[in-house]
Amino acid sequence: SNNLMAGKRGLIMGLANDKSIAWGIAKACADAGAEMAFTYMGDAFRKRVAPLADQLGVQTLIDCDVSDPASIDAAFSEIEKTWGRLDFIVHAIGFSDKNELRGRYVDTSRDNFLMTMDISCYSFTAVMQRAEKLMSEGGSAMTLTYYGAEQVMPHYNVMGVAKAALEASVKYLAEDLGKDGIRVNAISAGPIKTLAASGIGDFRYILKWNELNSPLRRNVTIDDVGKSALYLLSDLGSGVTGENLHVDAGYHVVGMKAVDAPDI
Ligand code: NAD
Repeated sequence: SNNLMAGKRGLIMGLANDKSIAWGIAKACADAGAEMAFTYMGDAFRKRVAPLADQLGVQTLIDCDVSDPASIDAAFSEIEKTWGRLDFIVHAIGFSDKNELRGRYVDTSRDNFLMTMDISCYSFTAVMQRAEKLMSEGGSAMTLTYYGAEQVMPHYNVMGVAKAALEASVKYLAEDLGKDGIRVNAISAGPIKTLAASGIGDFRYILKWNELNSPLRRNVTIDDVGKSALYLLSDLGSGVTGENLHVDAGYHVVGMKAVDAPDI
């Protein structure tokens, strides 16, 4: 444990269960002395998230559906009422119809394209519109992305397009909010078995491929992502904004399958 986040208050959005990337980040922040509030989506998740909140001594649990602007407003007025300000924010939210996370990108429907962009991309901008006012003493915000934004990955399809837009929005947000001392970054995580990932076709094969072909010859964990998030969210990252930090065991630098990798 350390004091990197002592005295800092943050909102963690996107906690579903103890496999969530948001959980890895929340644990790292708690270990560093942060005070946190969690949002979750819908009553079904409250049951799973409440014991996790207890475990880290988190008292503020807010139901928030980012596809509903009124719900985002309500979440931020609750934060304003509780704390009056905010030092950091973690956006770990993404969604698409799983029927379109397999097969061809070219077959994406208009409805699912718009919904995927709304929940997985626009919601981060919507959140930062509200967070800006509460980050009166500066702050640090981050979202989660995936390599499928940069290169074509099997089955990622419309989610890859939404993540590309999300990564671009990180850069625009970094410029807009930088004057106020608010840093905005992304972590591009390697594949991790979570609820959201289980919707992606052939996910087990993708995990195995990354394990065998990444420079570290392993997959990353939510604790790996949590530690790197701590760097971006704490003063350790004070000079870093608009960045996309790859926490993927180095997979993104590989251009060709290594000769020592066995066939899979
Ligand atoms: P997860 O299922 O644990 O988290 C996804 C969260 O999004 C859930 O908490 C869910 O409730 C929330 N969500 C979905 N729709 C919502 C809405 N309308 N309003 C509010 N919340 C909503 O899975 P995860 O893998 O931890 O995902 C977190 C983030 O990490 C996502 O952006 C995902 O794309 C990204 N990511 C995941 C991986 C991976 O392999 N797991 C890799 C890179 C990036």
